[in-house]
Amino acid sequence: MRIEVPEKAEKIIDALQEQGYDAYVVGGCVRDSLLRRSPADWDITTSATPEEVKRIFRRTVDTGIQHGTVTVLMDKEGFEVTTYRIDGEYEDGRHPKEVTFTPSLEEDLKRRDFTINAMAYNHRKGLVDIFGGEEDLKNKVVRCVGNPRERFTEDALRILRAVRFSAQLGFSIEEKTQDAARDLGETLKKISAERIQTELVKLLVSPNPQYLRKAWELGLTRIFLPEFDKAMETPQKNPHHCYSVGEHTLKAMEAVRPDRTLRLTLLFHDLGKGETRMRDEKGIDHFYGHPAKSEKIAKSVLKRLRFDNDTINMVGKLVYWHECPWEASPSSVRRALSKTGIELFPLLLEVRKADIIAQSSYRRTEKMEWLEKLQEIYQDILRRQECVSIRSLAVSGKDLIDAGMKPGREIGETLNRFLEIVLENPEKNTKEYLLSLL
Ligand code: ATP
Ligand code: MG
Repeated sequence: MRIEVPEKAEKIIDALQEQGYDAYVVGGCVRDSLLRRSPADWDITTSATPEEVKRIFRRTVDTGIQHGTVTVLMDKEGFEVTTYRIDGEYEDGRHPKEVTFTPSLEEDLKRRDFTINAMAYNHRKGLVDIFGGEEDLKNKVVRCVGNPRERFTEDALRILRAVRFSAQLGFSIEEKTQDAARDLGETLKKISAERIQTELVKLLVSPNPQYLRKAWELGLTRIFLPEFDKAMETPQKNPHHCYSVGEHTLKAMEAVRPDRTLRLTLLFHDLGKGETRMRDEKGIDHFYGHPAKSEKIAKSVLKRLRFDNDTINMVGKLVYWHECPWEASPSSVRRALSKTGIELFPLLLEVRKADIIAQSSYRRTEKMEWLEKLQEIYQDILRRQECVSIRSLAVSGKDLIDAGMKPGREIGETLNRFLEIVLENPEKNTKEYLLSLL
């Protein structure tokens, strides 16, 4: 078994070994290499203490020195070098009270979450796999190192990490690990919103966003995303649909490319359906006004999970407009663009497409044809550089003042009136014509 370690990481390991220390690449990079995927980063674990690491390398950054982590800079690239450690008692299911350095690689591997993440490698010793990580990779299972209940009690985030890795890799979760996850799911309450956010996003942008269902089955979404549980319980008796709101949500996420904003949008797009469902006398469900409700839910959940404001606003808007409630005509699309903005629109088309794919096949062809038409019209508008905002009117506020208008409300109102005209008739967007209307 030989792993291709990048030259710079190799150099770090060699330098540590030359000074009499042990050093290995460890964790995610070993896992990914064995899976023939290219690792995002190469972490190094060593018997040298942080002080010793800093003495050996010229350029280092104290990234997490209290946990034993020093970043070693090779040219411009940074490698995290962490001293073998044992995590002390976990105070509150969140943070180890203290970390103790240890000379034993085995002790260091034991503290890691899953067998597939607890392997180390260097060219001298080859693969160090004490807990059967390679076998679990072969069998495609996520399994805790040691006793799952103890491991989840030490750090509840691991429960969500189990689902995240299973989604990223398309793996199942070993039975006892699942049992412990189910029993201890409630303890996710203690985990900070930021850490939950990180794992949730990784799950959503993975090749298997529908594994969120697993988090639901294990009772985890109930803790950090109860809005999704509600969706799983909301039926949709309507010819356009063949799934519950929750199942439709999972299908829709699968149907869109793995982009953070798009996957989040599809996660939230229909969550307002629970509150708006009305069954008519024929037994058909309707969800009038659900996009606005979904937007509200999206924003409050994203805020609760401490997402940044740009994400909150962007996803909120996409959720609000996700139905693309527009006729496929040029003036209607220009009007739409004036509301959504030109950047959001192509994303909306992607959102809508995924949404349709996740519905029943009822009128699928018509829906897709309509969407294609929207797309074509949108592209025509771009190509012709037609005006869809006050900013691109042929007349500015200053022009109006120069033409004798008093600064104030009237300016804005006039520009809005001009925009209305130009949205209907793009050829009227000339200075001459618009000023002639004054
Ligand atoms: P990714 O590709 O997402 O970075 P990764 O395996 O590198 O995957 P990280 O979160 O970067 O995951 O963590 C690096 C390593 O540290 C893991 O492989 C694992 O061995 C260990 N680890 C990380 N978080 C925990 C945790 N909460 N409990 C135990 N071990 C952990
Ligand atoms: Mg990593």
